[in-house]
Amino acid sequence: MFVGVHPLAGFDKLLHYRVPEALRASVTVGSLVRAPIRGSFTLGIVGELGAPKDFPQEKLKPLAAVVYPFPALPPDLLELARWLAAYYAAPLDGVIETMLPAAVRKAAQLKQEKLLVLARRPDADELAALTKRAPQQAKLVAFLAQQFKPPQKSLVLARLDLTAAVVSALMKRGLVREETRRVERVAYADEYTGGELVAAQPHTLNTEQQAATDALATSLAVKKFGVTLLQGVTGSGKTEVYLRAIHTALRDGGGVVFLVPEVALTPQTVARLRSRLEAIAPGQQVVVWHSHLSEGERLDGWLALATGTARVVVGARSAVFAPVRDLRLIVVDEEHEPAYKQDETPRYHARDTAVMRAKLAGAFCLLGSATPSLESFANASAGKYGLLRLTQRVDDRKLPYIDVVDMRVEVARTRGATSLSRRLADAMHDRFEKKEQTILFINRRGYSRSMQCRKCGETVECTHCSVAMTYHRTDETLRCHLCGDQRGAPSRCPKCAAPDIRWQGLGTQRVEEAVRRVLPRARIERMDTDTMAKKNRFREVLSEFRAGKIDVLVGTQMIGKGLDFPNVTLVGLVDADLSMHVPDFRANERTFQLLVQVAGRAGRGDRAGEVVVQTFTPQAGAIQYSRHADYDGFAAEELGVRQRFHYPPYRHLIHHLFRGPNPEKLKFFAEQWARHVEKELGNRVELRGPTPSPIEKIKDEYRWQLWYFTSGVTRVTADLAALRAKFAWPDDITQVLDVDPVNLA
Ligand code: ADP
Ligand code: ZN
Repeated sequence: MFVGVHPLAGFDKLLHYRVPEALRASVTVGSLVRAPIRGSFTLGIVGELGAPKDFPQEKLKPLAAVVYPFPALPPDLLELARWLAAYYAAPLDGVIETMLPAAVRKAAQLKQEKLLVLARRPDADELAALTKRAPQQAKLVAFLAQQFKPPQKSLVLARLDLTAAVVSALMKRGLVREETRRVERVAYADEYTGGELVAAQPHTLNTEQQAATDALATSLAVKKFGVTLLQGVTGSGKTEVYLRAIHTALRDGGGVVFLVPEVALTPQTVARLRSRLEAIAPGQQVVVWHSHLSEGERLDGWLALATGTARVVVGARSAVFAPVRDLRLIVVDEEHEPAYKQDETPRYHARDTAVMRAKLAGAFCLLGSATPSLESFANASAGKYGLLRLTQRVDDRKLPYIDVVDMRVEVARTRGATSLSRRLADAMHDRFEKKEQTILFINRRGYSRSMQCRKCGETVECTHCSVAMTYHRTDETLRCHLCGDQRGAPSRCPKCAAPDIRWQGLGTQRVEEAVRRVLPRARIERMDTDTMAKKNRFREVLSEFRAGKIDVLVGTQMIGKGLDFPNVTLVGLVDADLSMHVPDFRANERTFQLLVQVAGRAGRGDRAGEVVVQTFTPQAGAIQYSRHADYDGFAAEELGVRQRFHYPPYRHLIHHLFRGPNPEKLKFFAEQWARHVEKELGNRVELRGPTPSPIEKIKDEYRWQLWYFTSGVTRVTADLAALRAKFAWPDDITQVLDVDPVNLA
């Protein structure tokens, strides 16, 4: 018997081995094995059974070991690995490493613990005698007799203040025995939530939820691949629909992957899901999967899923690779979230990966959002995905009113000295008096500087690419980072000639100061990457906020499921332009999503919510459509732009980044390469650039970039990879390909 193995040691090819007699029963496609390589050993995944065609069998070395008695990458995951490698132009060994947690790869030494077991119960006489002659031994025996499960030796000795000699003596008497057992460290949901268990009752579904649930039950019954987009306004009760679908899948003996964005993986969400899933399927273990697990916890969770002990995983991005058996359903909540994209190689998108995994496993994929990505929406409109809609909020409350404040007027009124409009300041006052809470939201600021006139709101956009042009101070130019077009930076607004054209983003700190001036007596807390650097601070602040100890929360990243604050009746978006006028074709989509999601957070309790949005461009579509959460209106307008400028969902984009210490050389090679690609693939790929990156230099390395626009990714990535391998790159230039990038700015 012979096998082809994908080694995980930087060899991007299949190597063949002989399988020794003893290992034959446990080796199969997808097994994690240890194999000899160049005088040492490597871990690898069995990619195929059989001998190589062009190599003498008798020369093949034997496999050293099989790490787990089940395939670490079952067939669907192995196929997925191959697809990821091809689609994202990433080496297969790196992809496999991403799919297998480090702890699993290390085949980590399982932590062994000694447990004390009462071997037999002494009768009354024996116990009396023992109490007299060896009171310490009697104490231990009495303790063990009371235990429900054999306790850990070290803990018992510490607790009863006994020495190991006492155990030895009892072992000699045959009363106690030691057992070595693996300690369970699975981060089942209740451990992770730190006891914040809230009993969640199933709701009686409303008509729309029932219709969606029925449709999904029908789809699941087919037991074939399919994708459905569940578009439900914020507060329409999508979770309830997910849970019913999960119930159906579990009841039929299937496994389930439930993906949520990392920030949404709060103790509340997890607790709610767990208690609901427990009710659905008693005794069902829910494995939680997120970035803060210890290696041991992750290994245990992985093993529980791989062996079928647990059938449901709730987790962030990488849970899409969890080895759930008999996969029947993948749910991707908040499918539009950019956090689903991994920002290092392999740069996979968990939503797209989920769809592909479902396809390979013959499972069903449910994507949910209040504001679907235009990619998913287009797929649904084209009939590739099913579409289910929840148009009503469960409590029948109206979505909060969005009040758009024109900052051009405010700036004129206060001569530019304002970051909080009078409207917003008044509203905050009002809430403070009523002891209600406010969230001031500042969308994270990108690195790019685009220009905006503070008088008329004009921004400078590239006429070819419909994205904001970026200001480069070094040579006083405005440049387009897609096509490379450039012009001199104006000193006056090209539209109204005011000298006020500049980019001035507001930091959270400045907003905090402004709030302190408006509400000197309020308790204000700032939440951004600076202040949240301390571990657990994020959670602390949120729980103080929930407890009403904070009046105003100023922050950059607190939007997400599970962050329900019933006492928050005002949400202010301080500068909507910060996300709208950045050199990213998704800027409008992000802004629209942000506004609708923010509005959905306001006033979820029994009080009405209000949203105040400050902007210099109140007429922008992203803002106007968000006022009535008009997704269809927004999508129709935005898809028109996307089509005109060849952006997704009409084309795929591939980003090619070049980095090097010498700017002239970098530019030269980027241009050489672009010419080469144009010649070879020009009929299938539209090139834009090369241009300097929005961030021209990081840590003494200069950066250039090139864009490929294409309608089919896999062919192009294969061709690019082949061309790239043959191209004479200098040693000091590194490059990175990013397929379907989500952050352009
Ligand atoms: P969405 O994800 O669509 O924004 P959620 O799933 O978070 O909405 O549901 C919003 C709230 O409504 C939750 O507190 C949930 O428990 C509650 N809910 C869901 N369905 C119902 C229902 N049929 N009746 C009453 N309350 C419901
Ligand atoms: Zn351009």
